[in-house]
Amino acid sequence: MEKRPFVTLEQVKEIAKTYPTPFHLYDERGIRENARRVMKAFSWNPGFKEYFAVKATPNPVILQILKEEGCGVDCATDVELMMAKACGFAGREIMFSSNVTPAKDFQYARQIDATINLDDISHIDFLQQVASVPETVSCRFNPGGLFTISNTIMDKPADAKYGFTRQQLTEGFVKLQKLGVKHFGLHSFLASNTVTNEYYPTLARLLFQTAVELHQETGAHISFINLSGGVGVAYRPDQEPVDILQVGEGVRRAYEEVLVPAGMGDVAIFTEMGRFMLAPYGCLVAQVLHMKHTYKDYVGLDACAANLMRPAMYGAYHHITVLGKENAPCCHKYDVTGGLCENNDKFAIDRMLPQIERGDYLVIHDTGAHGFSMGYNYNGKLRSAELLLREDGSVQLIRRAETPQDYFATLDVTGLF
Ligand SMILES: *Cc1c(COP(=O)(O)O)cnc(C)c1O
Repeated sequence: MEKRPFVTLEQVKEIAKTYPTPFHLYDERGIRENARRVMKAFSWNPGFKEYFAVKATPNPVILQILKEEGCGVDCATDVELMMAKACGFAGREIMFSSNVTPAKDFQYARQIDATINLDDISHIDFLQQVASVPETVSCRFNPGGLFTISNTIMDKPADAKYGFTRQQLTEGFVKLQKLGVKHFGLHSFLASNTVTNEYYPTLARLLFQTAVELHQETGAHISFINLSGGVGVAYRPDQEPVDILQVGEGVRRAYEEVLVPAGMGDVAIFTEMGRFMLAPYGCLVAQVLHMKHTYKDYVGLDACAANLMRPAMYGAYHHITVLGKENAPCCHKYDVTGGLCENNDKFAIDRMLPQIERGDYLVIHDTGAHGFSMGYNYNGKLRSAELLLREDGSVQLIRRAETPQDYFATLDVTGLF
């Protein structure tokens, strides 16, 4: 499928008069329409809630939009919890799915009554010692082995650091019951960026069967099952996007077949999607600073891996559109690079694009999740602004760009300049 940006050259030229490139731009309309599709897909489950993974796009204005659409938040640190609280999320609207958790983070999670999702059996005693054990606790399951969907290996849970083993779940539930826990959640995250409608239904069936066993073994009341994140997006133009309505229907079928016959038809379904909620509805807009022709042809941008780490870190594909040249033939092969002193600072390698000149504006697609948030300050590169394209077409600054003062803020440089 052809990938079209949600902004035009004219819009970007206008925006750049006020906010110079590079910047991350988010599409409010796209975010809201997608969130509504998610709600519709799971509307068959009265307790359904999507807890947006804050780490994907930790911006209060974005979180507020998702809150208006009925989402909660999933946090992994006390700082993410602080942002959630500041945005008006409270108690049951906050999931705390952390790992290698410091005492202060558990203490803060208990203070604001976030729902705690334990990553390890040893955290039961730790939570009891450093804070207290609430009436509702969730446990993260790691089934080990390989995770396959119709004979395709999706990932290898046995190599993942997360979660309880199956045996530890039973022991953990018994122990938690002794500590006064009355309601349980079960959570698992088995594969990342899965571009298939079968991921959630397959995971759901596994978790539902495990929940039935745990209920039969321990008598525990299981109040929710959290399918976590991992639903992917079509970063490449030739990929078929996930159909979330089909996904919801697949989970419903597993629910009817496994939970309902076991008398567990009151279980709420939770999700913690980050990527699926935001990635397609954000882009990184950059301008071409230099063209370089040596052994290869290079397009040098004012953005770099410090603004978007995924290509450098995982070799991830991000589609690129040259604004104003949407219909021009892609007959030139380029490496599209940033200016870090690191040769992996390339947004694309050997990418076929229209002929590019200095001053052209490029849109790097699908950066709305795990984009800005993975940014860093290597080489003294400063984090960019984040902008929101509102439904009425106006543009709102939702995070200002960093200045050199921000970079120096943690140092005592008085008198050095
Ligand atoms: C990262 C993460 C998510 C979100 O993952 P996506 O791939 O963005 O959907 C959800 N839950 C937990 C515990 C995570 O660590």
